[in-house]
Amino acid sequence: MTDSCGRTIDYMRVSITDRCNLRCRYCMPEDLAFIPHEEILRYEEIQRICALAAELGVSTVKITGGEPLVRPGCVELIRSLKALPGIRRVTLTTNGVLLSQHLPALAELGLDGVNISLDTLDRGLYRAITGRDELHRVLGAVFQALDAGLKVKLNCVPQQAVGERGLLELAALAVRHPVDVRFIEMMPIGRGRDFTPVTGGALLRMLEGAWPDLMPSIEKRGSGPARYFTSPALKGSFGIIDAVSHSFCAQCNRVRLTSEGYLKLCLCHGDGVDLRGLLRSGGTDGQLRQAMETAILRKPRQHTFGGTTGPGELRAMSQIGG
Ligand code: SAM
Ligand code: SF4
Repeated sequence: MTDSCGRTIDYMRVSITDRCNLRCRYCMPEDLAFIPHEEILRYEEIQRICALAAELGVSTVKITGGEPLVRPGCVELIRSLKALPGIRRVTLTTNGVLLSQHLPALAELGLDGVNISLDTLDRGLYRAITGRDELHRVLGAVFQALDAGLKVKLNCVPQQAVGERGLLELAALAVRHPVDVRFIEMMPIGRGRDFTPVTGGALLRMLEGAWPDLMPSIEKRGSGPARYFTSPALKGSFGIIDAVSHSFCAQCNRVRLTSEGYLKLCLCHGDGVDLRGLLRSGGTDGQLRQAMETAILRKPRQHTFGGTTGPGELRAMSQIGG
């Protein structure tokens, strides 16, 4: 469907849990209280909302969390969403810790792509950033996912502590592997507010310094806001998602469903609609569709990350799904 700013909304990020097996310092405080299980949408509730979203024109669903693979049955949920009429692409974003064991099933069911979060190739720094010593498992999963023929994107939130050398080392994975290495500016959401972001502009200058023949890619990849860059030296590509310093709100195509069933209209703003309440009070498909439609029509025109008011969203990123 089209929102009141004329933007086509065809992409929904679906968070299936607020729990996680890592504690990334900019995302999830160690002492964060979890949402009680009974307040988390059941899989059949998620399927119903996705089916209705598809009727409204959503064709791509991204499964996220918390860490989606800590919730039992995640792979079967993905399989069921792939079968919904109107849903053309289902992808997954994961920290990669539990990915290896699920790769055969994910490849077999035709997962349309996997984003793996990875901020550094340095074991000590990885442990400092994520609170856990899991780099070896994540890297193993990256290479196994590539071997399994999946489309793999690496998502890095660049941090000053990693430094230019560390960021370029990570980028260099795209030299030898057909992987998109994407750099996502730190957003002032939750603990992200405590960090000074490495901007997309600074990142691009670093990448151009190391790969002088880098050029913007004209090929469209996925449905996201990343700007991609290629070079003859790369098997993969680089992506920059500079949501804070470079607004792309005019092209925004997405809404988000939190694990407790709140349809969120913009990453930066708290506004949305409680679909769980409607679902569990016996709402009909027509009422649910109407609630979604009415909410999408009031999707905010733009984020206020850089403004004096800052983001209106008070949830942690692990409760939103990125
Ligand atoms: N656990 C999964 C993962 O790490 O990919 C999925 C959920 S996680 C919230 C999704 C993405 O949000 C990750 O790539 C993470 O790095 C990113 N993220 C978390 N907090 C952020 C922040 N403050 N600014 C920008 N990205 C953030
Ligand atoms: Fe967990 Fe992903 Fe947040 Fe890290 S970024 S704490 S892996 S939800």
